[in-house]
Amino acid sequence: MIEKIVIANRGEIALRILRACRELGIKTVAVHSTADHNLKHVLLADETVCIGPPSSKESYLNMPAIISAAEVTDATGIHPGYGFLSENADFAERVEKSGFVFVGPKPETIRIMGDKVSAIRTMKAAGVPCVPGSGGPLPEDPNECRRIANEIGYPVIIKATAGGGGRGMRVVHSDAALQNQLNAARAEALAAFGNGECYMEKFLERPRHIEFQVLADNYGAVVVLGERDCSLQRRHQKVVEEAPAPGITEEQRARMIETITDALQEIGYRGAGTLEFLYEDGKFYFIEMNTRIQVEHPVTEMVTGIDLVKMQLRVASGEQLPFKQGDIRITGHAIECRINAEDPKGFVPSPGPVKLWHPPGGPGIRVDSHLYSGYNVPPYYDSLIAKIIAHGEDRATAIARMRNALNEMVIEGIKSNTPLHQEVFGHAAFQQGGVDIHYLERRLGLK
Ligand code: ADP
Repeated sequence: MIEKIVIANRGEIALRILRACRELGIKTVAVHSTADHNLKHVLLADETVCIGPPSSKESYLNMPAIISAAEVTDATGIHPGYGFLSENADFAERVEKSGFVFVGPKPETIRIMGDKVSAIRTMKAAGVPCVPGSGGPLPEDPNECRRIANEIGYPVIIKATAGGGGRGMRVVHSDAALQNQLNAARAEALAAFGNGECYMEKFLERPRHIEFQVLADNYGAVVVLGERDCSLQRRHQKVVEEAPAPGITEEQRARMIETITDALQEIGYRGAGTLEFLYEDGKFYFIEMNTRIQVEHPVTEMVTGIDLVKMQLRVASGEQLPFKQGDIRITGHAIECRINAEDPKGFVPSPGPVKLWHPPGGPGIRVDSHLYSGYNVPPYYDSLIAKIIAHGEDRATAIARMRNALNEMVIEGIKSNTPLHQEVFGHAAFQQGGVDIHYLERRLGLK
C-alpha cells in the first residue's frame, strides 16, 4: 500500500481523501494556499505544506510547488481530487516522471479524454453510442460550418474541445445566428481553456443527464457501479444527483454496463472514472468522460456500499479489484444536494465567517463537509461548502429523509442555496422523478 499521500486539493474532497487515507493507514500531507491554513483537513493532516498565495494559479494549480511538497515530505503518491489539476495530463506525467504514484488513470488516457473530440472518436470506435455531431473540430470556413450544421440539423450546440465546467457552450437555432455564436464560443473557449477549438453536436431538447461510474485496475478488470441521474442543473452545472436513475430498467442498465466494460477494456482504463451520457427517448448518447473522482460519487457509494476513494487508493497501490461485476448490488436509493455558499435567488457567492454550523443527522444521512463553526469561507474558490446525502430503502424514503435533513441543517453567517433545494424537493415533478436537464431553469424562470 502507498505509504504517504499528498492531497492536492481543498475543501470537502480533501477531507474525504484524508478520511480514506486514515482508514487505510496511509499518512497524509495537506498542501494549501495561504488563504486555507484553517481548512479542516489541513488541521487534521499528519503534515502540511503551504504552496502559495490564495490565487489557484499560484497554489492549487502550481505543479512545481505541489511536486516539491511531495519531495520534501517523502510522499509516495499524489491524489488530485476533482477540479484543479485532476484532469491535467501534463501534471499526471510530471508526477510519474518525478517518481510518485498519480492516483488516477495513465497520463495518455487523461489526454485522450481531456480533448472531447478525441474522447468521442475513441468511444465511438469502441462501440459506445454518441450524439450526432461534427465528429471533429470545426473548420475556419463559415460555409463549411453551415454545411455541417445543416447536415446535423438545427438546433445544434457548439462546445469547446477542451471544455469543462459547463463553460463555452452555445446553442444555435439557425444559419443566421451560426457565425456570431461560433465566434463567441471560440473566444470564450480561448479565454477559459487557452484553446479556441470547438466542435458541434445535435442539441437534444429534453434529455436527462445519466452517467455511469466505473472502477478499473491495472490488470484489465473493469467494473461498472451503476448509474447516477444528474439532470437537475443550472448553467450546465449539477445541483442534485441521485442513484439509481429513476425509470432505467435492468435490461437497459445491463446493456450499458456491457458496452462500457468492453470500451474501457479496449482503451486500458485504470482507476475511477465516469462516462457521461444524455438520455432521450430511451436512448443513451455519450458526451464525455471524467477521468477522476466526481463530486457526486457518494450517491453511488451509498447504494453499492463500495468506498470509491479507498478503491482509487488501493488500485493506485497495485491491488486488484476485490469484486467482480456480478458482485455489485444496488441497495435502495440515494440523493445528494450540493450546498453552495451563495444567495439562493441571484446565485451571487456568499463567502465569510460561519457563525454557526449544525449539520443534519439521523438514519441514512451522510454529510461530506469541511465546515465548522468559526470557519471563514474564503472568496477565492468554488462555493461548494457541503454535500448532504440521503439514503433510503426507496426513492420516496430518500426524499423524505433529505427534506428532514434540509430543515434541520443550520448555517449562520453566510447565505446558502438550501432554500432552493427545499423548494425543489417539494415539486411534484421532482418527486415523481425523471425530469430533464432544463427542468430547474424552467422552474426558476431562467428559460
Ligand atoms: P462540461 O464538460 O462543460 O460539463 P458536458 O459536455 O459534460 O460539458 O455537458 C454539460 C451539460 O451540458 C450536460 O449535462 C447537458 O446539460 C448540456 N449538454 C451538453 N451537450 C448537450 C447536447 N448535445 N444537447 C443538449 N444539452 C447538452
